[in-house]
Amino acid sequence: MEMIMTFGKYKGETIEEVYLTNPSYFSWMRENGMTNKPEYQEFIEMIPNQYPECFEWEVDIRSGYQCWKCKKSMPIFLMFNPEVENELRDGYPIISDLAYSKPSSLIPFAKEYGVLLEERSSKVTESKYVMHICPHCKMHQGDNYVVEDNEQETVLIKKIKIVCYHDIWKEKHQ
Ligand SMILES: [Zn+2]
Repeated sequence: MEMIMTFGKYKGETIEEVYLTNPSYFSWMRENGMTNKPEYQEFIEMIPNQYPECFEWEVDIRSGYQCWKCKKSMPIFLMFNPEVENELRDGYPIISDLAYSKPSSLIPFAKEYGVLLEERSSKVTESKYVMHICPHCKMHQGDNYVVEDNEQETVLIKKIKIVCYHDIWKEKHQ
């Protein structure tokens, strides 16, 4: 069930309809102290996952992930929605965002940080999606193990904030 706005000028519309009509409405809600409203919570948990290129993300680049095939070590690129509190970001397991839904615009950007991503077919999801590739044996690593529920001990080597303009991702410096 999609959540419906219960107040204001968009009352009765779905969160996604309001976002597509007037994306700045939710910035307005935030600026006016309405982040506790369920409508805002729903917006911030759902819409960035559907429109990742329109939002800012935090990225943890971690080293020491072990390829399931050749057992060699590879770096990984984990994304987090900065507005959603996530207690499973630094421990075991790590749960990060955009499992099975990274945009292909991230492929050249991640490469700048030494992380290989490619769009490959998955037996698990029976679809194609952008996933991690081992730089040594070129075997793909499913998002179920890397992004959704990562139980390996890895080391955080870099933390960045990123934004996308016209399909090009950039590191955001404050
Ligand atoms: Zn490998």
